[in-house]
Amino acid sequence: MTRSEALFERAIRVIPGGVNSPVRAFGSVGETPRFIAAADGAYMTDADGITYLDFISSWGPMILGHNHPAVREAVIKACEKGLSYGAATECEVDIAELICSNVRNIEMVRMVNSGTEAVMSAIRTARGYTGRAKIVKFMGCYHGHSDALLVQAGSGVMTAGIPDSAGVPAGCTKDTLSAVYNDLSSVETLFEEFPEEIAAVIVEPVAANMGLVPPKAGFLEGLRSLCTKYGALLIFDEVITGFRLGFEGAQGYFNVDADLVTYGKIIGAGMPVGAYGGRRDVMSMVSPVGPVYQAGTLSGNPVAMQAGMTQLKILKEHPEIYTELNAKGDWFYEGLDEAVKVSGTGWHMNHIGSLGCMYFTGQPVVDYASAKQADTKEFAKWFRYMLQKGYYFGPSQFEAMFLSAAHTKEELQGVLDAAKTYFAERA
Ligand SMILES: *Cc1c(COP(=O)(O)O)cnc(C)c1O
Repeated sequence: MTRSEALFERAIRVIPGGVNSPVRAFGSVGETPRFIAAADGAYMTDADGITYLDFISSWGPMILGHNHPAVREAVIKACEKGLSYGAATECEVDIAELICSNVRNIEMVRMVNSGTEAVMSAIRTARGYTGRAKIVKFMGCYHGHSDALLVQAGSGVMTAGIPDSAGVPAGCTKDTLSAVYNDLSSVETLFEEFPEEIAAVIVEPVAANMGLVPPKAGFLEGLRSLCTKYGALLIFDEVITGFRLGFEGAQGYFNVDADLVTYGKIIGAGMPVGAYGGRRDVMSMVSPVGPVYQAGTLSGNPVAMQAGMTQLKILKEHPEIYTELNAKGDWFYEGLDEAVKVSGTGWHMNHIGSLGCMYFTGQPVVDYASAKQADTKEFAKWFRYMLQKGYYFGPSQFEAMFLSAAHTKEELQGVLDAAKTYFAERA
Protein backbone atom coordinates (compact mmCIF):
# COMPACT_ATOMS: atom_id res chain seq x y z
CA MET A 1 0.00 0.00 0.00
CA THR A 2 1.33 3.46 -0.88
CA ARG A 3 1.46 6.23 1.70
CA SER A 4 -1.25 8.09 -0.21
CA GLU A 5 -3.46 5.01 -0.02
CA ALA A 6 -2.79 4.66 3.71
CA LEU A 7 -3.55 8.33 4.27
CA PHE A 8 -6.74 8.00 2.25
CA GLU A 9 -7.85 5.06 4.38
CA ARG A 10 -7.42 7.20 7.48
CA ALA A 11 -8.96 10.24 5.80
CA ILE A 12 -12.21 8.64 4.69
CA ARG A 13 -12.99 7.69 8.30
CA VAL A 14 -12.79 11.26 9.57
CA ILE A 15 -13.33 13.56 6.57
CA PRO A 16 -16.34 13.20 4.20
CA GLY A 17 -14.94 11.43 1.15
CA GLY A 18 -11.47 11.84 2.63
CA VAL A 19 -11.10 15.32 1.12
CA ASN A 20 -11.86 18.87 2.16
CA SER A 21 -13.20 19.82 -1.27
CA PRO A 22 -14.97 17.40 -3.63
CA VAL A 23 -12.80 18.27 -6.65
CA ARG A 24 -9.84 16.70 -4.87
CA ALA A 25 -11.52 13.30 -4.83
CA PHE A 26 -10.35 10.88 -7.50
CA GLY A 27 -13.60 8.92 -7.52
CA SER A 28 -14.68 9.84 -11.04
CA VAL A 29 -11.33 8.66 -12.43
CA GLY A 30 -11.20 5.47 -10.36
CA GLU A 31 -8.07 6.38 -8.45
CA THR A 32 -6.91 7.18 -4.93
CA PRO A 33 -6.16 10.86 -4.32
CA ARG A 34 -2.47 11.64 -4.14
CA PHE A 35 -1.64 13.33 -0.86
CA ILE A 36 0.71 16.18 -1.64
CA ALA A 37 3.69 16.78 0.60
CA ALA A 38 5.37 19.70 -1.18
CA ALA A 39 5.34 21.72 -4.38
CA ASP A 40 7.87 23.81 -6.20
CA GLY A 41 7.74 25.57 -9.57
CA ALA A 42 5.61 23.50 -11.94
CA TYR A 43 5.90 20.34 -9.82
CA MET A 44 4.12 18.70 -6.90
CA THR A 45 5.53 15.84 -4.86
CA ASP A 46 3.25 13.39 -3.10
CA ALA A 47 3.58 11.56 0.20
CA ASP A 48 5.34 8.68 -1.56
CA GLY A 49 7.99 10.97 -2.99
CA ILE A 50 6.56 10.79 -6.53
CA THR A 51 6.86 14.05 -8.43
CA TYR A 52 4.23 15.24 -10.90
CA LEU A 53 4.17 18.04 -13.43
CA ASP A 54 1.13 19.92 -12.12
CA PHE A 55 -1.70 21.12 -14.35
CA ILE A 56 -4.07 22.41 -11.69
CA SER A 57 -1.90 25.10 -10.12
CA SER A 58 -4.04 24.88 -6.97
CA TRP A 59 -7.01 25.46 -9.38
CA GLY A 60 -5.49 28.74 -10.51
CA PRO A 61 -3.70 30.67 -7.76
CA MET A 62 -0.17 29.53 -8.59
CA ILE A 63 0.14 31.45 -11.85
CA LEU A 64 3.82 32.08 -11.12
CA GLY A 65 4.40 28.45 -10.13
CA HIS A 66 4.53 26.90 -6.67
CA ASN A 67 6.67 28.25 -3.88
CA HIS A 68 7.67 31.42 -5.71
CA PRO A 69 10.61 32.84 -3.73
CA ALA A 70 9.31 36.43 -3.56
CA VAL A 71 5.86 35.34 -2.37
CA ARG A 72 7.36 32.92 0.13
CA GLU A 73 9.69 35.58 1.57
CA ALA A 74 6.85 38.10 1.86
CA VAL A 75 4.75 35.57 3.77
CA ILE A 76 7.55 34.60 6.14
CA LYS A 77 8.25 38.27 6.88
CA ALA A 78 4.57 38.95 7.50
CA CYS A 79 4.30 35.94 9.83
CA GLU A 80 7.02 37.38 12.03
CA LYS A 81 4.77 40.36 12.74
CA GLY A 82 1.79 38.38 13.97
CA LEU A 83 -0.84 36.44 12.05
CA SER A 84 -3.97 38.54 12.46
CA TYR A 85 -5.03 41.75 14.19
CA GLY A 86 -8.71 42.23 13.45
CA ALA A 87 -7.81 45.81 12.62
CA ALA A 88 -6.89 47.80 9.51
CA THR A 89 -3.40 47.48 8.00
CA GLU A 90 -1.32 49.32 5.41
CA CYS A 91 -1.09 46.37 3.03
CA GLU A 92 -4.88 46.34 2.61
CA VAL A 93 -4.69 49.90 1.30
CA ASP A 94 -1.77 49.02 -0.97
CA ILE A 95 -3.50 46.07 -2.60
CA ALA A 96 -6.80 47.97 -3.01
CA GLU A 97 -4.94 50.86 -4.68
CA LEU A 98 -3.02 48.49 -6.93
CA ILE A 99 -6.26 46.91 -8.14
CA CYS A 100 -8.31 50.10 -8.41
CA SER A 101 -5.65 51.99 -10.35
CA ASN A 102 -5.00 49.14 -12.80
CA VAL A 103 -8.31 47.43 -13.48
CA ARG A 104 -11.06 49.20 -15.39
CA ASN A 105 -14.37 49.79 -13.60
CA ILE A 106 -12.95 48.89 -10.22
CA GLU A 107 -13.08 52.02 -8.11
CA MET A 108 -13.51 50.31 -4.76
CA VAL A 109 -12.79 46.80 -3.60
CA ARG A 110 -13.59 44.75 -0.50
CA MET A 111 -11.45 41.80 0.59
CA VAL A 112 -13.02 38.54 1.76
CA ASN A 113 -11.67 35.02 2.36
CA SER A 114 -12.80 32.97 -0.64
CA GLY A 115 -14.36 33.16 -4.06
CA THR A 116 -17.60 31.84 -2.60
CA GLU A 117 -17.77 34.75 -0.19
CA ALA A 118 -16.86 37.24 -2.89
CA VAL A 119 -19.71 36.13 -5.15
CA MET A 120 -22.24 35.84 -2.32
CA SER A 121 -21.41 39.39 -1.24
CA ALA A 122 -21.44 40.79 -4.78
CA ILE A 123 -24.92 39.35 -5.30
CA ARG A 124 -26.11 40.89 -2.05
CA THR A 125 -24.63 44.22 -3.11
CA ALA A 126 -26.32 44.07 -6.51
CA ARG A 127 -29.64 43.29 -4.88
CA GLY A 128 -29.17 46.12 -2.41
CA TYR A 129 -28.20 48.56 -5.15
CA THR A 130 -31.05 47.74 -7.52
CA GLY A 131 -33.69 46.93 -4.90
CA ARG A 132 -34.47 43.83 -6.98
CA ALA A 133 -34.33 40.17 -5.99
CA LYS A 134 -33.81 37.98 -9.04
CA ILE A 135 -30.47 36.94 -10.45
CA VAL A 136 -29.60 35.22 -13.69
CA LYS A 137 -26.86 32.61 -13.77
CA PHE A 138 -25.76 30.22 -16.48
CA MET A 139 -26.03 26.45 -16.37
CA GLY A 140 -22.61 24.92 -15.84
CA CYS A 141 -21.11 28.08 -14.37
CA TYR A 142 -19.83 27.66 -10.83
CA HIS A 143 -19.91 30.59 -8.43
CA GLY A 144 -18.98 28.93 -5.16
CA HIS A 145 -21.15 26.96 -2.80
CA SER A 146 -23.50 29.59 -1.37
CA ASP A 147 -27.15 28.50 -1.33
CA ALA A 148 -28.56 30.80 -3.99
CA LEU A 149 -25.94 29.82 -6.55
CA LEU A 150 -26.02 26.04 -6.24
CA VAL A 151 -28.38 25.76 -9.16
CA GLN A 152 -27.12 23.73 -12.12
CA ALA A 153 -23.62 24.63 -11.04
CA GLY A 154 -20.40 23.36 -12.58
CA SER A 155 -17.16 21.95 -11.16
CA GLY A 156 -17.57 19.30 -8.44
CA VAL A 157 -21.36 19.60 -8.64
CA MET A 158 -21.15 18.37 -12.24
CA THR A 159 -18.97 15.39 -11.41
CA ALA A 160 -21.31 14.45 -8.57
CA GLY A 161 -24.04 14.32 -11.22
CA ILE A 162 -26.53 16.31 -9.19
CA PRO A 163 -28.46 19.23 -10.69
CA ASP A 164 -28.74 21.05 -7.38
CA SER A 165 -27.46 20.45 -3.88
CA ALA A 166 -29.52 18.84 -1.13
CA GLY A 167 -29.93 21.05 1.92
CA VAL A 168 -30.78 24.17 -0.06
CA PRO A 169 -34.38 25.19 0.73
CA ALA A 170 -36.45 26.09 -2.33
CA GLY A 171 -36.82 29.59 -0.89
CA CYS A 172 -33.09 30.18 -1.29
CA THR A 173 -33.11 29.55 -5.03
CA LYS A 174 -36.54 30.82 -6.01
CA ASP A 175 -34.98 34.05 -7.29
CA THR A 176 -32.20 32.31 -9.19
CA LEU A 177 -32.95 32.06 -12.90
CA SER A 178 -30.91 29.79 -15.17
CA ALA A 179 -29.87 30.69 -18.69
CA VAL A 180 -27.87 28.88 -21.36
CA TYR A 181 -24.22 29.86 -21.71
CA ASN A 182 -23.41 31.45 -25.07
CA ASP A 183 -27.13 31.85 -25.80
CA LEU A 184 -28.18 35.49 -25.54
CA SER A 185 -31.77 34.77 -26.45
CA SER A 186 -32.15 32.64 -23.30
CA VAL A 187 -31.20 35.72 -21.27
CA GLU A 188 -33.39 38.04 -23.28
CA THR A 189 -36.37 35.76 -22.64
CA LEU A 190 -35.80 36.05 -18.88
CA PHE A 191 -35.53 39.82 -19.06
CA GLU A 192 -38.75 39.99 -21.08
CA GLU A 193 -40.48 37.87 -18.47
CA PHE A 194 -39.10 39.83 -15.50
CA PRO A 195 -38.16 43.27 -16.89
CA GLU A 196 -38.03 45.00 -13.51
CA GLU A 197 -37.12 42.18 -11.18
CA ILE A 198 -33.63 41.10 -12.23
CA ALA A 199 -30.91 42.59 -10.03
CA ALA A 200 -27.96 41.09 -11.84
CA VAL A 201 -26.65 38.71 -14.43
CA ILE A 202 -23.66 36.79 -13.13
CA VAL A 203 -21.37 35.05 -15.56
CA GLU A 204 -17.99 33.40 -15.75
CA PRO A 205 -16.73 35.47 -18.71
CA VAL A 206 -14.82 32.34 -19.70
CA ALA A 207 -16.64 29.34 -18.29
CA ALA A 208 -13.92 27.34 -16.56
CA ASN A 209 -15.95 25.02 -14.34
CA MET A 210 -17.57 22.84 -17.02
CA GLY A 211 -14.21 22.13 -18.58
CA LEU A 212 -13.35 25.26 -20.52
CA VAL A 213 -15.90 27.12 -22.63
CA PRO A 214 -14.89 30.47 -24.09
CA PRO A 215 -17.61 33.03 -24.80
CA LYS A 216 -18.76 33.24 -28.40
CA ALA A 217 -18.08 36.53 -30.17
CA GLY A 218 -20.71 39.04 -29.06
CA PHE A 219 -21.97 37.03 -26.06
CA LEU A 220 -20.43 39.18 -23.33
CA GLU A 221 -21.17 42.39 -25.25
CA GLY A 222 -24.77 41.21 -25.59
CA LEU A 223 -25.04 40.61 -21.85
CA ARG A 224 -23.66 44.11 -21.28
CA SER A 225 -26.34 45.70 -23.47
CA LEU A 226 -29.17 43.63 -22.00
CA CYS A 227 -28.15 44.56 -18.45
CA THR A 228 -27.90 48.24 -19.37
CA LYS A 229 -31.25 48.13 -21.16
CA TYR A 230 -33.08 46.56 -18.21
CA GLY A 231 -31.24 48.34 -15.38
CA ALA A 232 -29.59 45.19 -14.05
CA LEU A 233 -25.96 44.91 -13.01
CA LEU A 234 -23.52 42.74 -14.92
CA ILE A 235 -21.31 40.73 -12.58
CA PHE A 236 -18.20 39.11 -14.00
CA ASP A 237 -17.13 36.24 -11.80
CA GLU A 238 -13.41 36.52 -12.45
CA VAL A 239 -12.35 34.15 -9.70
CA ILE A 240 -10.47 32.19 -12.38
CA THR A 241 -10.00 34.72 -15.21
CA GLY A 242 -9.01 37.64 -12.96
CA PHE A 243 -5.27 38.38 -13.26
CA ARG A 244 -4.99 35.27 -15.49
CA LEU A 245 -6.11 36.29 -18.98
CA GLY A 246 -4.23 39.49 -18.27
CA PHE A 247 -3.97 41.88 -15.34
CA GLU A 248 -7.38 43.29 -16.19
CA GLY A 249 -8.86 39.82 -16.49
CA ALA A 250 -11.74 39.20 -18.86
CA GLN A 251 -12.85 42.83 -18.81
CA GLY A 252 -9.54 43.78 -20.38
CA TYR A 253 -9.21 40.71 -22.58
CA PHE A 254 -12.62 41.11 -24.19
CA ASN A 255 -12.95 44.84 -23.67
CA VAL A 256 -16.35 44.54 -22.01
CA ASP A 257 -17.28 46.51 -18.88
CA ALA A 258 -18.74 44.85 -15.81
CA ASP A 259 -20.50 46.64 -12.94
CA LEU A 260 -19.16 44.29 -10.30
CA VAL A 261 -16.26 41.88 -10.46
CA THR A 262 -15.45 39.00 -8.12
CA TYR A 263 -11.98 37.64 -7.50
CA GLY A 264 -10.40 34.69 -5.75
CA LYS A 265 -7.63 32.22 -6.49
CA ILE A 266 -4.76 34.29 -8.04
CA ILE A 267 -5.53 37.31 -5.85
CA GLY A 268 -4.38 35.35 -2.78
CA ALA A 269 -1.37 33.62 -4.39
CA GLY A 270 -2.36 30.43 -2.56
CA MET A 271 -3.67 32.03 0.63
CA PRO A 272 -7.45 32.11 1.29
CA VAL A 273 -8.44 35.41 -0.30
CA GLY A 274 -11.39 36.62 -2.33
CA ALA A 275 -12.51 40.10 -3.27
CA TYR A 276 -15.32 41.96 -4.94
CA GLY A 277 -15.14 45.37 -6.46
CA GLY A 278 -16.79 47.73 -8.87
CA ARG A 279 -18.03 51.23 -9.49
CA ARG A 280 -17.94 53.61 -6.54
CA ASP A 281 -21.72 54.14 -6.47
CA VAL A 282 -22.33 50.39 -6.36
CA MET A 283 -19.60 49.59 -3.81
CA SER A 284 -20.79 52.47 -1.63
CA MET A 285 -23.79 50.28 -0.79
CA VAL A 286 -21.52 48.10 1.36
CA SER A 287 -21.37 48.57 5.12
CA PRO A 288 -20.24 50.55 7.02
CA VAL A 289 -20.98 53.30 4.43
CA GLY A 290 -24.05 51.63 2.98
CA PRO A 291 -26.90 49.40 4.13
CA VAL A 292 -25.62 46.10 2.63
CA TYR A 293 -24.04 44.21 5.50
CA GLN A 294 -20.88 42.21 4.88
CA ALA A 295 -18.04 41.48 7.30
CA GLY A 296 -15.18 39.09 8.07
CA THR A 297 -12.99 38.36 11.09
CA LEU A 298 -10.03 37.36 8.94
CA SER A 299 -10.81 39.51 5.87
CA GLY A 300 -7.74 41.37 4.63
CA ASN A 301 -5.56 39.12 6.78
CA PRO A 302 -2.03 40.63 6.87
CA VAL A 303 -0.23 37.43 5.85
CA ALA A 304 -2.67 36.70 3.03
CA MET A 305 -2.50 40.31 1.82
CA GLN A 306 1.30 40.19 1.61
CA ALA A 307 1.10 37.00 -0.43
CA GLY A 308 -1.48 38.43 -2.81
CA MET A 309 0.15 41.83 -3.06
CA THR A 310 3.55 40.33 -3.87
CA GLN A 311 2.16 38.14 -6.65
CA LEU A 312 -0.02 40.91 -8.12
CA LYS A 313 2.90 43.35 -8.13
CA ILE A 314 5.05 40.89 -10.05
CA LEU A 315 2.24 40.37 -12.57
CA LYS A 316 1.69 44.11 -12.92
CA GLU A 317 5.37 44.93 -13.33
CA HIS A 318 6.00 42.13 -15.84
CA PRO A 319 3.28 42.20 -18.49
CA GLU A 320 5.47 39.88 -20.59
CA ILE A 321 4.44 37.10 -18.20
CA TYR A 322 0.98 37.22 -19.78
CA THR A 323 2.24 37.46 -23.35
CA GLU A 324 4.49 34.46 -22.83
CA LEU A 325 1.98 32.43 -20.82
CA ASN A 326 -0.82 32.96 -23.32
CA ALA A 327 1.44 32.11 -26.28
CA LYS A 328 2.66 29.00 -24.45
CA GLY A 329 -0.98 28.04 -23.87
CA ASP A 330 -1.83 28.35 -27.57
CA TRP A 331 1.21 26.30 -28.54
CA PHE A 332 0.55 23.59 -25.96
CA TYR A 333 -3.19 23.18 -26.46
CA GLU A 334 -2.85 23.21 -30.25
CA GLY A 335 -0.13 20.58 -29.91
CA LEU A 336 -2.44 18.46 -27.78
CA ASP A 337 -5.16 18.87 -30.37
CA GLU A 338 -2.73 17.55 -33.03
CA ALA A 339 -1.78 14.62 -30.82
CA VAL A 340 -5.39 13.44 -30.48
CA LYS A 341 -6.04 13.74 -34.19
CA VAL A 342 -4.13 10.55 -34.98
CA SER A 343 -6.47 8.45 -32.88
CA GLY A 344 -9.57 9.15 -34.93
CA THR A 345 -11.62 9.26 -31.73
CA GLY A 346 -14.11 11.97 -30.88
CA TRP A 347 -12.57 14.84 -29.00
CA HIS A 348 -12.87 18.57 -28.86
CA MET A 349 -10.19 20.93 -27.65
CA ASN A 350 -11.24 24.24 -26.11
CA HIS A 351 -8.65 26.72 -24.94
CA ILE A 352 -7.94 30.36 -24.25
CA GLY A 353 -4.66 31.69 -22.91
CA SER A 354 -3.27 29.37 -20.27
CA LEU A 355 -6.60 27.57 -19.78
CA GLY A 356 -7.73 24.56 -21.72
CA CYS A 357 -9.87 21.44 -21.72
CA MET A 358 -9.82 18.39 -23.91
CA TYR A 359 -13.33 16.99 -24.13
CA PHE A 360 -13.85 13.41 -25.13
CA THR A 361 -16.69 14.19 -27.50
CA GLY A 362 -16.84 14.83 -31.21
CA GLN A 363 -19.26 17.70 -30.74
CA PRO A 364 -18.11 21.29 -30.26
CA VAL A 365 -18.59 22.24 -26.61
CA VAL A 366 -20.27 25.61 -26.23
CA ASP A 367 -22.48 25.19 -23.16
CA TYR A 368 -23.49 22.87 -20.32
CA ALA A 369 -25.52 20.46 -22.46
CA SER A 370 -22.72 19.95 -24.98
CA ALA A 371 -20.09 19.65 -22.22
CA LYS A 372 -22.12 16.86 -20.65
CA GLN A 373 -21.86 14.89 -23.92
CA ALA A 374 -18.23 14.17 -23.06
CA ASP A 375 -17.32 10.55 -22.36
CA THR A 376 -16.10 10.64 -18.77
CA LYS A 377 -14.89 7.02 -18.96
CA GLU A 378 -12.57 7.89 -21.83
CA PHE A 379 -11.37 10.87 -19.83
CA ALA A 380 -10.68 8.63 -16.83
CA LYS A 381 -8.51 6.30 -18.97
CA TRP A 382 -6.50 9.21 -20.30
CA PHE A 383 -6.19 10.70 -16.83
CA ARG A 384 -4.85 7.46 -15.34
CA TYR A 385 -2.35 7.01 -18.15
CA MET A 386 -1.02 10.53 -17.77
CA LEU A 387 -0.91 10.34 -13.97
CA GLN A 388 1.18 7.22 -14.23
CA LYS A 389 3.55 9.13 -16.56
CA GLY A 390 3.89 11.86 -13.93
CA TYR A 391 1.34 14.39 -15.22
CA TYR A 392 -1.21 15.59 -12.70
CA PHE A 393 -4.40 16.86 -14.38
CA GLY A 394 -7.62 17.82 -12.65
CA PRO A 395 -9.30 14.52 -11.75
CA SER A 396 -12.47 15.24 -13.71
CA GLN A 397 -13.47 15.80 -17.32
CA PHE A 398 -15.09 19.05 -16.23
CA GLU A 399 -12.06 20.79 -14.77
CA ALA A 400 -9.81 23.06 -16.80
CA MET A 401 -6.05 22.72 -17.14
CA PHE A 402 -4.08 25.63 -15.72
CA LEU A 403 -0.62 26.46 -17.05
CA SER A 404 1.72 28.61 -14.99
CA ALA A 405 4.71 30.78 -15.81
CA ALA A 406 6.87 28.00 -14.36
CA HIS A 407 5.93 25.41 -17.00
CA THR A 408 8.67 25.23 -19.61
CA LYS A 409 8.17 24.33 -23.25
CA GLU A 410 10.51 21.35 -22.77
CA GLU A 411 8.31 19.98 -19.98
CA LEU A 412 5.18 20.58 -22.01
CA GLN A 413 6.75 18.89 -25.04
CA GLY A 414 7.08 15.81 -22.81
CA VAL A 415 3.32 15.92 -22.26
CA LEU A 416 2.69 16.21 -26.00
CA ASP A 417 4.96 13.22 -26.67
CA ALA A 418 3.16 11.15 -24.04
CA ALA A 419 -0.17 12.20 -25.53
CA LYS A 420 0.98 11.20 -29.02
CA THR A 421 1.96 7.75 -27.76
CA TYR A 422 -1.33 7.34 -25.90
CA PHE A 423 -3.52 8.30 -28.83
CA ALA A 424 -1.42 6.44 -31.39
CA GLU A 425 -1.83 3.26 -29.32
CA ARG A 426 -5.58 3.76 -29.29
CA ALA A 427 -5.78 4.38 -33.03
C1 LIG B 1 -13.36 28.61 -7.54
C2 LIG B 1 -14.47 29.48 -7.98
C3 LIG B 1 -15.35 30.08 -7.06
C4 LIG B 1 -15.33 29.75 -5.60
O1 LIG B 1 -14.14 30.14 -5.01
P1 LIG B 1 -13.72 29.43 -3.61
O2 LIG B 1 -12.48 30.18 -3.22
O3 LIG B 1 -13.48 28.00 -3.94
O4 LIG B 1 -14.82 29.64 -2.66
C5 LIG B 1 -16.28 30.97 -7.55
N1 LIG B 1 -16.35 31.28 -8.84
C6 LIG B 1 -15.54 30.71 -9.76
C7 LIG B 1 -15.64 31.12 -11.19
C8 LIG B 1 -14.59 29.78 -9.36
O5 LIG B 1 -13.82 29.18 -10.27
